[in-house]
Amino acid sequence: MSRFLDPRFAALKEYTPGEQPQDKQYIKLNTNESPYPPSDKVVQAVNAQQVRDLRLYCDPDCTKLKTAMAQRFGVGENNLFLSNGSDDILNFCFMAYGGGGAAFADITYGFYEVFAKLHGVQAEIIPLREDFSLDVEGFKGKNKLVVIANPNAPTGLCLDLTVIEDIVRSNPNGVVVVDEAYVDFGGESCYRLIDRYENLVVCQTFSKSRSLAGGRLGFAFACPALIADLEKIKYSTNPYNINRLTQVAGLAVVEDDGYYMDNCRRIEENRAFAVERLEGLGFEVLPSKANFIFCRSDRMGGKQLYLQLKEKGILVRHFDKARISDFVRITIGTREQMGALVDAVRQLLGE
Ligand SMILES: *Cc1c(COP(=O)(O)O)cnc(C)c1O
Repeated sequence: MSRFLDPRFAALKEYTPGEQPQDKQYIKLNTNESPYPPSDKVVQAVNAQQVRDLRLYCDPDCTKLKTAMAQRFGVGENNLFLSNGSDDILNFCFMAYGGGGAAFADITYGFYEVFAKLHGVQAEIIPLREDFSLDVEGFKGKNKLVVIANPNAPTGLCLDLTVIEDIVRSNPNGVVVVDEAYVDFGGESCYRLIDRYENLVVCQTFSKSRSLAGGRLGFAFACPALIADLEKIKYSTNPYNINRLTQVAGLAVVEDDGYYMDNCRRIEENRAFAVERLEGLGFEVLPSKANFIFCRSDRMGGKQLYLQLKEKGILVRHFDKARISDFVRITIGTREQMGALVDAVRQLLGE
C-alpha cells in the first residue's frame, strides 16, 4: 500500500474471492459455478465478426439484450437494469441507498459488509437464528437499506415469497434489495412484486444458473424510478460496463432459456443425490434451494475436510468464521463429480 491511499480505503478489508487455481485440474466445487458449459448457441454467437467489432465501443444501453430479457420475464424494459455481474448492482445499491445505514445478516454473502465499509455505510448486523434461519422480525421496520440473499449464501436456506413481501412492506422508507443469485435452483423469485412496491430491488445473475460466470452479467428488477437511479450511477462511473462479447453471449443465453433451466433441474437432482449420500455418512446438511450445500460432520472439522479434499483434488469452500467454521460449502456439480466427492469423503472418514 502506498502512503497516498486515502485512509478510508487503507482501512478497507477487501472481499476474498474463492480460489481460482491455475496450477492443476481440480474438481472445482468451491465457487458455485455451473458444471455445464454454455450452449452451442452461445459458442456460435461469439464469432469472428464479433471479435472484429471489438474495435468499436459496445451499446451502453444493451438494447437487444434488454429487449429479449424484458420479454423473457414479462416486465418493461424500464424495469430492468443490466450490469457487469450482480456484484456491480449490489455495489451501486450501497452507494445509492445506504445513506441511512444498511441491515443484513451476520452469515450471508460476505460482499455486503465490504460494500458497506467501502461506502462508509453504517452496518447493522442481524444475527441468523440458531438454526441459521433469518430473524424475520428483526428485519422489519428498519426503514434503511435492507439486503437479503434469498436463497441465502452460504447456508442455502430459502424464504417464502410472503415473508419477503412482509419485510418489503414493513420498510416503506428504505430500499430492500433481494439478492436472488441462486433463485433458479428451486426458490421462488419475488420480482413480480416490483409493480406493487417502490422500494424493492431484485438482483439476479447469469453467473450461477446460466453458465456465464466468466462473462460477468447481472441484472436487476425494480420500478422505473429505482432503475433510473442505478442508470444514473452506471453512467457516472462506467457506461460501457457490459462488454460487446458478453452482450452477444447473454442474448444467446436468453434465446436458449430451456437449456439452462433444464440444467437447473439436473443440478437439483444431483443435489438430492449428494445430500442423501452425505447424510448416509452422518453429515448434517442444511436444507438447500441453491446450487450448493452447506454441511458438517462430527467426525472432521470444516477446515480439515477442506484441506484433505483439496489434497485429493477436490476444491470446496471453507469459511474461517464464527458459527460456521465447522461447515464446508460444496457446489453441486455433475452427477459424476458428486460421486467422486462422496467417494473421497468416505475414504477420509475411513469407511
Ligand atoms: C455469486 C453471488 C453474487 C454475484 O454474482 P456475480 O457473478 O457478480 O453476478 C451475488 N450474490 C450472491 C449471494 C452470490 O453468491
